[in-house]
Amino acid sequence: MHDMRVLRDSDRIHLVDKKGRHYALTLKAGEVFQHSGETLAHDALIGQEDGTLVTLSRGKRMVAVLPTLRDYVLKMPRGAQVIYPKDLAIITVWADIYPGARVFEAGAGSGALTMALLRAVGPRGCVVSYEAREDFARIAMKNIERYMGDVPHLSVRLKDAYEGIELQPGEGLFDRLVLDLPEPWRVVPHAVSALRSGGMYLSYVPTVPQVMQTVEALERARVFGQIETFETLFRSWNIQGRSVRPDHRMVAHSGFITAARKVAGGVGEQGDAQAPGMIDGEGEEEATLPEQ
Ligand code: SAH
Repeated sequence: MHDMRVLRDSDRIHLVDKKGRHYALTLKAGEVFQHSGETLAHDALIGQEDGTLVTLSRGKRMVAVLPTLRDYVLKMPRGAQVIYPKDLAIITVWADIYPGARVFEAGAGSGALTMALLRAVGPRGCVVSYEAREDFARIAMKNIERYMGDVPHLSVRLKDAYEGIELQPGEGLFDRLVLDLPEPWRVVPHAVSALRSGGMYLSYVPTVPQVMQTVEALERARVFGQIETFETLFRSWNIQGRSVRPDHRMVAHSGFITAARKVAGGVGEQGDAQAPGMIDGEGEEEATLPEQ
């Protein structure tokens, strides 16, 4: 969808004002956008370039853009709470979602994480996403299709991930497993057989007891190494003349991320499961630098 540079009829676009506020609308010939008593004909937008500055009826100026993934997920209709863009960004790299990867996800929720995964695997990869609730599965598909168009490399299945991960005939094991549901530890035993050796597990949970249960389950499974848990803090800044400082508000808490790697042959009693920052160099004495 984003290869094109021109705003077209039926595109979902955002109008962004001087303060950075976003207004989402779907372009339709003949319709009129209304905002605090000002109007703008959709026809004045259709055919214009992505990133065009437009003037409303009483002089207010806005920029018309095709939303970035980050813009889009913050404005799209939600069933379930979406994963914040700051976490989407880090999840795709920490779970090492690469072009061509086969990824298992649960639950699809509103589809925000699904879209980040789809982008990262590209058209040669695939995402299989379980969602327990039909209404959420429908919202997710709608959100995803409106932003990405046809997604033949996505399969959203109305299934309970706690009951198992089905491997379809002809499909291989999964390369990556990404979970955003309340009890990821109940999926860990299924991950053992659904994930290839060297595959990565990643889950996202909002509370400490959930992290504890998750890590215990990963350790108990005996096939996961390099288990690590972290969170991300994103602090934006205000840069205006001499006022150069962090913004007053931030999202102080979203979720804790736990990642692990499946190890062929399993990990031993002592846990050959090294933390990633502690992998020895080849016989070198010096400690490895902390990762971040
Ligand atoms: N990551 C999503 C939000 C997921 S919210 C996003 O970014 O939009 C958690 C979702 O998991 C909810 O939609 C919930 O219905 C689903 N869920 C909960 N338990 C589940 C299970 N056992 N199997 C599959 N989906 C489940």
